Amino acid sequence: MGKYIVTSAWPYVNHVPHLGTLVGSILSADIYARYLRLRGHDVVFVSGSDEHGTPIELEARKKGVEPKELTDQVHSYDVEMWNRYGITFDNYSRTESAVHKEFVMGFMKKLEENGYIFSQEEVLPFCENDDMFLPDRFVEGTCPYCGYERARGDQCDECGRLLHPTELKNPRCSLCGATPKYKSTRHWFIDLRKVQDRLLNWLENHSELQDNVKKFSLNWVAQGLKPRSVTRDLKWGVPAPFEGAEGKTIYVWFDALLGYVSATKEYFLESRGDAEEWKNWWWSEEVKTIYFIGKDNIPFHAIILPALFMASHDPYTLPWRISATEYLMFEGQQFSKSRRIGVWIDEALEIAPADYWRWVLARMRPEARDTNFTWKEFYRIVNTELNDDIGNFVNRVLSLVRSRMSGVAPEPEDLGEYASFVERVRTAAWRVAEDLDRIRIKKATEGILEIAREGNGFLNKTEPWRLMREDREEGVRVLTAALYAVKTLAHLLAPFTPEAADRLWSMLGMAGSVHEAVWDEWLDRNVPGGSRIREVKPLFTKLPEDFLDRVDEIVAEARSRAASKRPPLLRD
Ligand SMILES: [Zn+2]
Ligand SMILES: [Zn+2]
Repeated sequence: MGKYIVTSAWPYVNHVPHLGTLVGSILSADIYARYLRLRGHDVVFVSGSDEHGTPIELEARKKGVEPKELTDQVHSYDVEMWNRYGITFDNYSRTESAVHKEFVMGFMKKLEENGYIFSQEEVLPFCENDDMFLPDRFVEGTCPYCGYERARGDQCDECGRLLHPTELKNPRCSLCGATPKYKSTRHWFIDLRKVQDRLLNWLENHSELQDNVKKFSLNWVAQGLKPRSVTRDLKWGVPAPFEGAEGKTIYVWFDALLGYVSATKEYFLESRGDAEEWKNWWWSEEVKTIYFIGKDNIPFHAIILPALFMASHDPYTLPWRISATEYLMFEGQQFSKSRRIGVWIDEALEIAPADYWRWVLARMRPEARDTNFTWKEFYRIVNTELNDDIGNFVNRVLSLVRSRMSGVAPEPEDLGEYASFVERVRTAAWRVAEDLDRIRIKKATEGILEIAREGNGFLNKTEPWRLMREDREEGVRVLTAALYAVKTLAHLLAPFTPEAADRLWSMLGMAGSVHEAVWDEWLDRNVPGGSRIREVKPLFTKLPEDFLDRVDEIVAEARSRAASKRPPLLRD
């Protein structure tokens, strides 16, 4: 048994997340966290709402409210969504939480005491119309590296480079469009050069880092780390704790990254009243930390976060794995709120139940390259994979046991020639476990489908409905073997379609919940003899035949239903 901290990138709460955000970080993390628990490990799964920073301030200004009013609404709406999607966070916190703010201030103060923070005057864009400095997204312009015209003061969304606002060509104020002036202001910086060698050494030697993460980060660090400013001339955020920095706040990225730790602290504080237990996790070499992020977040998790940990001089465990996904595209285009391209997670639930989306998105998880979501593929996956392959196999077996054996599972005994089928299923099941272990989530779903298809093929070949008439003993052996495959599917589906898996568990007449049945103890066993198969209901239902013809209409209706349920500040 091991101890694991599973984290997913903190969703930014200026709007409802879309499907790409769901699969890239939160859903992937949940599947993995569920898997680890099913293997009997001790897991703390944390995330939260990223509330600070300029996009929220901009959005709030546009709506004429205080940032906190906006983030209060989005945060509670997101929490409701995670519940509906069956995301099993131990703590879903927020960067406005008192525990978080205090933690960040203490952490940054410690970096200063350790000599990693210095301050200096900096020349930054200032808008005279708005009478304010223009940090990060308050200024836009052309990226000096790739020429993208809507790069922001802190990062280019096109090439992923971190930017300094003075690097932008043709800068303009995001609020009024004016060309900014440049003025001097004092800022506080973290001197990353001091951890450069240690960081490089860690990146080079840490074998668990994914290739794309390692390559990207090594390349970056090899170019030499520069000091990075950690303060902003903004009021919305965590107050900067340095002397002379009154009225300034901590840059949102440093703030949000430390949320992984503060959310763990808050979790143990609130669940056990223990303010120190978090150290037994974050300060322990035995604990493994896994970060689920989109590829645009690699530099923060593979460079900045470990650098912060190193500079704290506290014994933080460095990232064990960073699972960075590529992008999910929507019908060939990037998700875009402004151009209304894509499906948002609340709209999705108006089209199909959460389990369907969890499976579909796991099947489309952009692991090695950008992946394209299409309605055609959505339709195929739901109707063919969930219904024909998995649902149908389960239904055939359980219905036969109900009708030909009065619903009583036979005592597993010598299965004769059918033992080889059981053995193939068993081997395939443990291969799924291994794929999940390596965070090959998409490959794991293929293994599950393989078992269901093999199961259907087994029934077609052995024809148990015929055997039950002609050679009952033989028929019972076939159904016993098939029941093993059905029960195996309940276990394997648990991280992916948790609600359906539990229903299947219950149909099998098993006690308790499939989510509490640890694989190492249960996966190799068959349904105990004498178990009563309960009423058999379809595990999934098909999308209507004309779904693809009517998809535009269906999506438009879903969109308006979802919009009417959104909190006021989230209605477009
Ligand atoms: Zn660029
Ligand atoms: Zn302006």
